[in-house]
Amino acid sequence: MLWIVIVTPKCNLKCKYCGGSIPGMADEPTYKIEELADFISKDKGAVVAFYGGEPTLRADIMKDMMDNIPAKKFVLQTNGFFIRRLGDYIHKIDTVLLSIDGREEITDFYRGKGCYKAVMKALSYLRENGYDGEIIARMAVSYKTDIYEDVLHLLKFFPYVHWQLDVVWSNLWGLKEFKEWSERSYKPGLKKLVKKWAENLENPAGIVPFLGIMTRLLHGNKRKTNLPCGAGQDAFAVTPEGKILACPIAYDFKWNILGNFEHYGRIEIKEPCKSCPYYEICGGRCLFAYMERLWGEEGFNAICDVTKFLIDELRKYKDEAMKWAGKYNYPPYNNTTEIIP
Ligand code: SF4
Ligand code: SF4
Repeated sequence: MLWIVIVTPKCNLKCKYCGGSIPGMADEPTYKIEELADFISKDKGAVVAFYGGEPTLRADIMKDMMDNIPAKKFVLQTNGFFIRRLGDYIHKIDTVLLSIDGREEITDFYRGKGCYKAVMKALSYLRENGYDGEIIARMAVSYKTDIYEDVLHLLKFFPYVHWQLDVVWSNLWGLKEFKEWSERSYKPGLKKLVKKWAENLENPAGIVPFLGIMTRLLHGNKRKTNLPCGAGQDAFAVTPEGKILACPIAYDFKWNILGNFEHYGRIEIKEPCKSCPYYEICGGRCLFAYMERLWGEEGFNAICDVTKFLIDELRKYKDEAMKWAGKYNYPPYNNTTEIIP
């Protein structure tokens, strides 16, 4: 299972779509690291992902956790500013996700001036230090994004690129603007990007949503849960107070609080997803968006529309990809990429 550990809710940045530090949470774990280690040791296949806020602000806690928690894999989601603080511990981490939104002007518009260069410096640092784990550029995609240009830009530097749409909880736009942008920019961009990606299905470029969706199209879903992020089923977040959540971003919603180290429950996606013909591939996309229809039914359907569009575009190349079916196995473990943008 995946355990997303919120090391600290504090963040050094204040990105436009996010707003910075999470209010109302303890600044650092109030539980003992041995308690967390003991709890996670019951899961023999544990993947532990360090999350925030910005987890490397408390590199000291991360190191302590890596020394004591018996996880099979460690994952880090970071803005890259303080990656040096991890020193040699970086080699204990199997996947590093660096937050960057595409070209420099797009990244710095959403995230603040200097963020693009900070991530590029972090990437150089990883390379210069012989880091051999998986490196993923993790984008948030909103109204300034040109998906074709921004993904191709990042692929020049990163082996993998993943993105998540800034929808439903966005500070930046509403449903009307999203619908307009998806018709004018996103769908045509996706179509072009899928076509380009499909030129080499034998050695597919590391576009995470495409790899993940094609894996499911070719092999079906091998996990117990269809929801790719696994929130509330085989992925949980741990708050600094030791609460167990389904999804790390919605900590104060009642449905999201599932328990503590003593006992926790599960939550799952139901209708209309379970009867949807795309369910085996899409899995309901996002538990948070499913539970909190902040853009109403119309908004839920508008996001489904772009999800279905992407799946259908990729499906066109399924037979061709089948020739190299063995090459499609993404993600190899739950590395916090949600697959469906
Ligand atoms: S496309 Fe929409 S309705 Fe269908 S499974 Fe995905 S989220 Fe649910
Ligand atoms: S996809 Fe949605 S439910 Fe899953 S972790 Fe991300 S925000 Fe939470």
